[in-house]
Amino acid sequence: MVDRGHEQVVLVADGTVGLRAVIAIHSTALGPSLGGIRFWRYDRDDDALRDALRLSEAMTWKASLAGLDQGGGKAVVLVDDPDAAHPAPLLRALGTAIDELGGRYLAAEDVGATTADMDTIATVTPWVTGVGEDSGGSGDPSPVTAYGVLHSIRAVLRHLDGPDATLDGVQVAIQGAGKVGAQLAARLVDDGARVVVADRLASRAADVAARTGAATAPADTILEQRCDVLAPCALGAVLDTAAVARLACRAVCGAANNQLAEPGIDRRIADRGIVFVPDFLASAGGIINLAEEFTGYSRARALARAATIGDTTTQVLEEARAERATPEEVALRLARARVATDGAGRRWQPGDPAAWTHGAPLRRLRPAGTVTA
Ligand code: NAD
Repeated sequence: MVDRGHEQVVLVADGTVGLRAVIAIHSTALGPSLGGIRFWRYDRDDDALRDALRLSEAMTWKASLAGLDQGGGKAVVLVDDPDAAHPAPLLRALGTAIDELGGRYLAAEDVGATTADMDTIATVTPWVTGVGEDSGGSGDPSPVTAYGVLHSIRAVLRHLDGPDATLDGVQVAIQGAGKVGAQLAARLVDDGARVVVADRLASRAADVAARTGAATAPADTILEQRCDVLAPCALGAVLDTAAVARLACRAVCGAANNQLAEPGIDRRIADRGIVFVPDFLASAGGIINLAEEFTGYSRARALARAATIGDTTTQVLEEARAERATPEEVALRLARARVATDGAGRRWQPGDPAAWTHGAPLRRLRPAGTVTA
């Protein structure tokens, strides 16, 4: 916690409903911490803790770089089967733990979670985003995430091939045919790209291929697929030294959080002449979408704001080229600078306004218990 600068980490357990979870709040300097709930099977409890610490820190930089008045947080729930439905009593116990934080952590969907899960959590706490549109929320953020990644990929292509570059005929390999991967595949195919998609569940990749016209590849070779852009949209830590040595793309730009397995991997990627777009930059569409809930949700406004991820990508890649730095180094510098200036060492407490600097004050999202589970 000290090394990464975390403010608060809460371990939650309720044996009666089988709940074991970690809620990590990295920073509330820019506003209440916002980040998804991940349901995952971890081999060791330490792995869950480490994941929560890494993911919550990345959310701080993601919100900062996207210009949002939000901090970084994340929850991970230790489950035996991430693909199984989560029982309502477990979700309500988790919601109670989130409620006890008084708004310092605002929950959202992540891997293994659904909009229906958010609806159930909202029966016990107002501090949850991404509840269903019928219940006054913004629903699943992944279409906006995919839209932001699309704009980031377009910006990378212009950076590599000049201002007139388009997606027409460009080859993109997508790892993960889940919520984001599927929508990204559809948008890329619409724009004329040739898309190959892979998932650890082969049927999922086959479904996406059938719906979009993309091709499929085996999950264990997708990272080494020869292509222009590799888009990791599965889990994190997929790019280690061995994987980087086998990359056969010109750029990496995808939604998966924390793609770099170790510090310094971004340097290795750059040394191979491959452009790596920081994941906390490319994947900000989801959090941009959720933050829209605080000012009265508009999907059109969320999409328009997510499109600006393309401009930030261009800025980061140009600065990296000029400074001979990696895009990861530049993006982190920009994100940290905003936390240091706009955040100025503050910690958000229940009752504080959401925005220290600009933007509308956080509304209590909705009274707890207004959503029927
Ligand atoms: P998801 O659970 O819907 O999809 C993930 C997919 O990846 C699943 O289909 C899973 O089977 C597949 N997968 C897992 N390991 C794999 C592997 N080794 N090879 C191939 N496929 C594998 O999740 P999602 O919402 O689409 O999110 C994908 C990634 O993007 C996650 O890392 C998430 O944290 C990140 N992200 C998502 C959003 C969002 O709005 N959903 C926003 C920002 C970042």
